[in-house]
Amino acid sequence: MARNFEPRELGEFGLIESIRRRAGPAGRRWVLGIGDDAAVLRPAEGRDLVWTADALIEDVHFRWSTTDPKSLGHKALAVNLSDVAAMGARPLGFLLTLGFPGDTPGRRLDGFRSGLLAEARGAACPLVGGDTVRSPGWSLSISALGEVTRGAALRRDRARAGDRVLVTGSLGGSALGLQLLENGWTRTSTEKRFVRMHRRPKPPYEVGPRLARAGLSRAAIDVSDGLLGDLGHILSRSGVGADLQLDRLPLAPGFRSVCAARGFDPDALALRGGEDHQLLFTVRPDAPDASVLARRLDVRLSEIGVLRRESGIRLFRGDTRVSSASEGYDHFKPVPLRSDK
Ligand code: ADP
Ligand code: MG
Repeated sequence: MARNFEPRELGEFGLIESIRRRAGPAGRRWVLGIGDDAAVLRPAEGRDLVWTADALIEDVHFRWSTTDPKSLGHKALAVNLSDVAAMGARPLGFLLTLGFPGDTPGRRLDGFRSGLLAEARGAACPLVGGDTVRSPGWSLSISALGEVTRGAALRRDRARAGDRVLVTGSLGGSALGLQLLENGWTRTSTEKRFVRMHRRPKPPYEVGPRLARAGLSRAAIDVSDGLLGDLGHILSRSGVGADLQLDRLPLAPGFRSVCAARGFDPDALALRGGEDHQLLFTVRPDAPDASVLARRLDVRLSEIGVLRRESGIRLFRGDTRVSSASEGYDHFKPVPLRSDK
């Protein structure tokens, strides 16, 4: 299979044709998918369109030494679909601008394509077009389109003081996985599980649309840059602050023991580690208990804090304030994740 994917033999148009064949038809919402000058979508009545873009650049967002082609294909789409879902929307389709060096081996492209299209099928989000270019390194730029009931999008600027803060799944696992990969600590099955969380994030795509449809939440964001930074976006856009309970941060099984064995600070990873792609959202004070919401949304949910009128983020263990953490994640100012021990 990989042999007939050699870019040198196929050329640009042969490659596009083989992507088109493997992607399959775009589905009934699309008048036209891959193959014309542009794709054609027939919009639905009573819906707002949601449109996002996210790029993964070799040696900026990923390195071939810490990932594999299939995982990369999965992740390139998953990070975009996570943004669509965090708006409360369901995906309609996506465009892919794929750049790679001329001497790229066919099996690398084939692996990327199969990871990407498997994720697309799982999320019922067809590939409807794109562009294919030569580039000094790999560059994956995806733009995804979704739809949400008119006026129901989950927005960063809709949180209010008194709202409760909830998050799906667990935090810090992806950042721990990356640290393990970079140090070559990937032997035990627990370590491998965190590596997989880094390479193959599984955003809870269903939760945002369910929240929007049920009118349970008005504000949400996917945790891509770390909890403090992403919560900080909701806070600054909504003009509020937050009290967070450190003991309620959801951690995956084995997270604390791997952190202890390898010398990482579990709180730092859970608060600042990026790329978990869990959904962080707020609900009104009188919304149902977290356990009731978890059952209704069919997802693991943790209530981690409450919004206040005072700006900034305050961290607590029980009633004890532990430290101020108003500064969010900054790409240009990384925070040490190792503990001092
Ligand atoms: P044009 O020169 O008009 O931009 P292209 O030759 O670049 O056309 O693309 C031909 C068709 O193939 C278009 O429908 C385009 O959207 C699609 N296409 C190109 N590259 C990709 C890709 N990497 N993935 C999916 N569709 C693609
Ligand atoms: Mg083109």
